[in-house]
Amino acid sequence: MDDHRDDQYEETELEEQKNTDPGETEEKKDDSSGDYEDVCFICRRPESKAGKMFRLPNHICVCDDCMHKTMDTVSQFDYQGLLNNPNMSDLNSGKGFPNISFVNLADLRGDGGIPNKQKPKKKKKETKAEIDIRDIMPPHKIKQKLDEYVVGQDHAKKVMSVAVYNHYKRVATGTMDEIEIEKSNMLMIGPTGCGKTYLVKTLARLLDVPLAIADATSLTEAGYIGDDIESVVSKLLAAADNDVERAERGIIFIDEIDKIAKKKNTNARDVSGESVQQGMLKLLEGAEVEVPVGANSKNAMVPLATVNTRNILFICGGAFPDLDEIIKQRLKKKTSIGYSAELKDKYDKEKNILNRVTVEDIRKFGMIPEFIGRLPVIFTLEGLSRDMLVKILGEPRNAILKQYQKLLELDEVELIFDQGALEAIADKAMEKETGARALRAIIEDFMLDIMYEVPKDDNIGRVTITREYIEGNGGPIIDIRSRSAEHPDHLREVQQS
Ligand code: ADP
Repeated sequence: MDDHRDDQYEETELEEQKNTDPGETEEKKDDSSGDYEDVCFICRRPESKAGKMFRLPNHICVCDDCMHKTMDTVSQFDYQGLLNNPNMSDLNSGKGFPNISFVNLADLRGDGGIPNKQKPKKKKKETKAEIDIRDIMPPHKIKQKLDEYVVGQDHAKKVMSVAVYNHYKRVATGTMDEIEIEKSNMLMIGPTGCGKTYLVKTLARLLDVPLAIADATSLTEAGYIGDDIESVVSKLLAAADNDVERAERGIIFIDEIDKIAKKKNTNARDVSGESVQQGMLKLLEGAEVEVPVGANSKNAMVPLATVNTRNILFICGGAFPDLDEIIKQRLKKKTSIGYSAELKDKYDKEKNILNRVTVEDIRKFGMIPEFIGRLPVIFTLEGLSRDMLVKILGEPRNAILKQYQKLLELDEVELIFDQGALEAIADKAMEKETGARALRAIIEDFMLDIMYEVPKDDNIGRVTITREYIEGNGGPIIDIRSRSAEHPDHLREVQQS
């Protein structure tokens, strides 16, 4: 924007210099000793030609014409903010108008400023588009990219792509004339380890926006032990390298949101439950928050920055245990009216019962209506099946197995997992009931020996992990490089891949 201002100024200056008679420019020099006439600082005309001058500090004179022309030009932008800024940061940094200071004509007239003219200008600055609509990735592209990293969860990916697209469109357009686009804050409901955090992380990386991940369990009402609610904004500012503008377009993910549900049957003040929900309301909607820069807590030694959360996308996630019971109860109530009782266990067997969640169910769970109202995009993620776990092992772009293969490839060793091994790993992970989170721990466990032994022996050319090895009934199949040497093609393949 400053560049733009500079350009505009230069244009004006050039235009005005063109209007000047070149012969006259050299004639008179500006001097305050009474022997010489005053010369306009901009058009260089003497007072005898240009008429009465405005006398500014530092012996600068500007003729009436130039003063008016300049004021007309600069009134298109916030020259007051630029030039009369008390810390003069724009001038010091080389932007703005060096060595020129303008007076406000209204001040000269003594009518106390032109408040009506200045207010709309400020508004214009606030709603200025910082993102070009054409630069925003359309939903199908966002989903395509997510597909490369996240297995399954098609519905969640679709909902998120559209919500994010709409959100950044809203940011790009600023406030629309009559229709204000609603903020697309999201609430994700899904069991642990199904990819909630991973989806948000991947999304932030794709969009190249800063991301802060906070845990709702650590938040408490201001003044109590625990993190202030505003600390999430402070985290985002840190993730944006203290760049306020970048932070204002970022994403805040609040995990374990179900843990701040209203506590039932309690008489004590609920400082980490309902109060936190209350405290988050203004952040979710959009508020100016003063956050410490480069520190976690506000104190006298830390500078504060004001961050507006209006364009920050909030995504809340939680497992909401027992929410399925609440849904079932509601559904059963419906069917028991006037219909036979045989329908009663109908919903007990339904697998994706969470998909039927309504705002009312979440309210019953313990979230306050104002809070749910500020998270208009609600969707669920499915628990991971064995097949999905097998895919997660090897398919995503940075799948765990690919990472190990890459590591061994640097030692020129090929690492192969047979299908049986993948299924055995998935089965073990299913037992732990922590979703895909268990996978890494299981793999690390049996890969330790391989990563330790393989570099010992230069002859090892290929390691094949089998079901027997995972289940503890045998070892991996080791192929010796000398055998591979008889088939040089194979070795070359290993090196190239
Ligand atoms: P949660 O739902 O509890 O937030 P996470 O997103 O933290 O779970 O998942 C833990 C790890 O499991 C992630 O880092 C990611 O590697 C893996 N993961 C989980 N779900 C998926 C998925 N659908 N596709 C690919 N990887 C996944």
